[in-house]
Order: sequence, then C-alpha cells, then structure tokens
Amino acid sequence: MSDALLACLNTIPDPETGKGLDDADRLDGAVIDKGIATIVLKVTQGSDPAKLKARIESEAAKLDGVERVRVITTLQRESSSPPPAAPQPAKAAESPAAKRAAGLIIAVAAGKGGVGKSTVAANLAAAMIKAGMSVGVLDADIYGPSIPRLFGLREVQGLRKNEDGIEPAGAHGAKIVSMGFLTKPDQPVVWRGPMVQGAIQQFLNDTAWGNPDVLIIDMPPGTGDAQLAIAQTVSLDGAVIACTPQDLALDDARKAMAMFEKTHTPILGIVENMSVFLCPHCGEPSEIFGHGGAREEAAAIGVPFLGEIPLTMELRERSDTGKPVAFDKGPVADAFANTASAVLESAGEARKPAPKITFSA
Ligand code: ADP
Repeated sequence: MSDALLACLNTIPDPETGKGLDDADRLDGAVIDKGIATIVLKVTQGSDPAKLKARIESEAAKLDGVERVRVITTLQRESSSPPPAAPQPAKAAESPAAKRAAGLIIAVAAGKGGVGKSTVAANLAAAMIKAGMSVGVLDADIYGPSIPRLFGLREVQGLRKNEDGIEPAGAHGAKIVSMGFLTKPDQPVVWRGPMVQGAIQQFLNDTAWGNPDVLIIDMPPGTGDAQLAIAQTVSLDGAVIACTPQDLALDDARKAMAMFEKTHTPILGIVENMSVFLCPHCGEPSEIFGHGGAREEAAAIGVPFLGEIPLTMELRERSDTGKPVAFDKGPVADAFANTASAVLESAGEARKPAPKITFSA
C-alpha cells in the first residue's frame, strides 16, 4: 500500500458509512507504480460504484507522480446475500464448490480453431444462466468472433458508452461484449498482442457488467502472442480447454495448457467436444473421431475431465439460430449442464482464498 495514496483515499467518504475509504475497510489495495495508481475497491453486489470511482480517479490524479489512475472493483458478497444457483442437474446445485462460484472469470480456450470452443463457451454460459446464475460473456476471439452469431446478435455494430461505462449487449439473459461488435465480418483486422491487451483490459474494466456471478471469456484459438497477452492481462480463475478426441487436437490442447501454466492460470479441466455422433434419426451413437481421448489425456496429466459433448446436427444447426441449445431440454443440454457444473466445481477448487480482481459493476 502507498501511504500518500491511502491518506488521499481516506479523505473520500464511503457513501454507506460516511467514514474515509480506508477506515471503512473499502480498500483491498492501493499502490503507485511507474506513475500508475491502482486502487482495488471493494463493492457489494447491487451497489453502483460509478460515482465513487470517478471521485477516486479525480482525487488520486492530483497526487505527485501519478500519471494514470486505475480503479478495479472486487465483489464482496454480503453474508446475507444468496449464493448463485448452480446449473442443473440438481446434484450440482447442492455442490458446495458450485456455490462458491461468485465473481468467477473463466477462459474457454483451445489449441486450434474449429474444435467448437465458441460453441462450448456459449453453451456453458447458457447452462449457467438456465440454472439461475448471472453471466457475462466476453468474446475475445479476434480471429473469428462467433459469440454474436451464437447469441443472435449479428446485427450489433459498435459499442455504446453510458455513464456506467460500456453497455454490453443483452441476449437470453447474458451480457455480451464481443470483438465482433467492433469489426465488420468482411474486413480482416490484424490485432497485435498489445492492442488485444488494451482492448481486453478496457472490456473488462469499463463494461457495465453488473457484477455477474461468472464471466466467460471466449479466447482466440491457438497459443500465440494475442492469447498470451490475454492470459497475462486478465486475472483468470481458471481455463477450460476444449478439444476433440483426435490425437492431433489433443496435441494442440497440450500446447494451450502449457500456455496457461506459464501465466499460472489454473487449468479447470478438459471438455471433449464432438465426442460421439448422435444420429438425428435413431439417436444411435457413432464414434466418428474416436472417443475418450480427452478423458485419458486429462487423467494422464492430472487435470479434471469436465465432460463430453456429442456431435449432433442439432447443435450445428442451432449455432445459426442465435439461441444456444443448452437453454433447451435433451441430451445435448444435459451434457452442457453437467459440464457447466463440473467447471464450477473445479473453479471452486482452484480458486485462491484472496478476493479476485474482477470487473467494474
Ligand atoms: P471454434 O470456436 O473452436 O473455432 P466453433 O464453436 O465456432 O469452433 O465451431 C465450429 C463449427 O463446428 C461450427 O459450425 C459449430 O456449429 C460446429 N460445432 C461445434 N461443436 C459441435 C458439436 N458438438 N456438434 C455439431 N457441430 C458442432
């Protein structure tokens, strides 16, 4: 903690108690480093810290040696507030680990494109929403943002800002910000690491997310600069690795896991997508790409196996209708509900005891 900064912050009254912010125990951190003052402010669910943040920014900016002020909010769930519901099935809702899933930031990643990473991210979000959780989705897939399509938001262009910050788009109960809102599908944009880092930081900190229970980040596929930049920028609670059962896909998944290990991000586990083909006529399963490779891989390296998502016509067709299939009933929705439950359980285990830096309300 920086003394000058703390003293300055303590001159600002906490709106709830009237005490200075330090005396009111509203600060989780306050440091000045290389001209940047970073203040970690504790907020309670449902509160609106926008005015307080603005006041902090203007006061801290007056200090000597401060060139920029960054206010990060961490969610302090009041003991009386109800824990978020966990996804179906019911056994998951009773899981203590799932109940600790407040304010989680989870990346969904894959070592390469086309394995269904975005499909998994969108449907995990849907399964969590269906179970009563509040969910934000940050589509960071700069190479092919597909979250707008998956949530029926293809027409959205640009992002609006209001007094609370960037307005996320809303669809089926999710709050969504996508790189796709900033680019036209027919105009390729070259995103370099620092640009991605800046955009993601802004999306995280300046979006009026409203403190969702879970924020899902759909990562760009692969393990290049941009991916590493995101993994380094965001204080992730963990990463879900999506892959298909083939050996080659598993090789890529290993690379993705190695990247997260570099940034000390817990691997929440592996999801095997396109696990078995479910015939749309008779429901008979066929193992087109093999089956079980990801489960074996997970066991071999000692990370949780989170679930198997079947390859179905329905899932592919529904990707274009703008409402993830996990909102429905049936075997695919069940598979996503079980996987979401396993993700939350794993995140509960991986979560460090210190409050996580999350995102602005
Ligand atoms: P990625 O994000 O890994 O590039 P997507 O989620 O965009 O992959 O999926 C690529 C394509 O595969 C999409 O057309 C999607 O509808 C389809 N797809 C993904 N998972 C499945 C599945 N389990 N069954 C059928 N089609 C799928």
